[in-house]
Amino acid sequence: MDKKRDNNLKFPLKGKYIALVAPSFVVDFPYPKILSQLKELGFDKAVELTFGAKIVNKEYYEEIKNSKKLMISSVCPGVVETIKNSFPEYKNNLLLVDSPMVATAKICKKIYPHHKRVFISPCNFKRLEAKRTGFIDYVIDYKELKDLIFKHSFEYTKNKNKKSYKKEILFDKFYNDYTKIYPISGGLSKTLKVKKLLQKNEIKEIDGIKKVIKFLKNPNPKIKFLDITFCKGGCIGSQFINSKIPISLRKIKVLKYIRKANKERIPENRKGIFKKAEGLSFKSNYPINIYSF
Ligand code: SF4
Repeated sequence: MDKKRDNNLKFPLKGKYIALVAPSFVVDFPYPKILSQLKELGFDKAVELTFGAKIVNKEYYEEIKNSKKLMISSVCPGVVETIKNSFPEYKNNLLLVDSPMVATAKICKKIYPHHKRVFISPCNFKRLEAKRTGFIDYVIDYKELKDLIFKHSFEYTKNKNKKSYKKEILFDKFYNDYTKIYPISGGLSKTLKVKKLLQKNEIKEIDGIKKVIKFLKNPNPKIKFLDITFCKGGCIGSQFINSKIPISLRKIKVLKYIRKANKERIPENRKGIFKKAEGLSFKSNYPINIYSF
């Protein structure tokens, strides 16, 4: 999937499209307003990645429990690509599990088989991962989404036949839980409850590629699980985020959103139950496959 193809999407969308929204969205877009904005752009449904993240946690827990060697998280494609290209000696330490984006896309494919899946992305690395894993049809980054919302809100306001979204629109939820802290550095190991498996001094969280490289060049042999992200602060620190506020305030936005969303009632039939993921495999070869550009 190249950027040119992504831009072939015509808005407002015609047909069935589902937006898979990265959890860092809340730094850049107001919640729940973003959901009516996505509807105005023609998205039929919008889901968070929380259920996918929950599944990833479950897979990670089992892998780490049964492993004796160093395990490196593979949810950040910036890290995966850096290791594959510059530190291939660590390739076999990457966890061969889907990222929350791919896990959620697989579940969406099962539950909404006729919808095109569009990932609302915090970075260009996710574009690469989407292309290489094949479960996402299109990617729109936050800068593109901001422009689209701006452009279409004018057209939408002019349109006399517009639908009115008086009722607050919420995510088409599978699951509502603590995995919403994933975009903050260390969010993975916290939600994974890795401390139940390993000692504190066997777990290392590193954010920012410079620090990651420094560790990979001079590893600490005691470490058994590395939770690492390319961007400083985690996904909330991505350069594709429009907001210019400091990381500390971005973190506060995510935490406030979690508190607000936790109070929402989820209809029984939308609760994330593992049954919805039955029959799917969340193992991935993306971290070890070498692709040509
Ligand atoms: S940490 Fe940065 S590079 Fe990695 S997935 Fe998040 S936004 Fe993308």
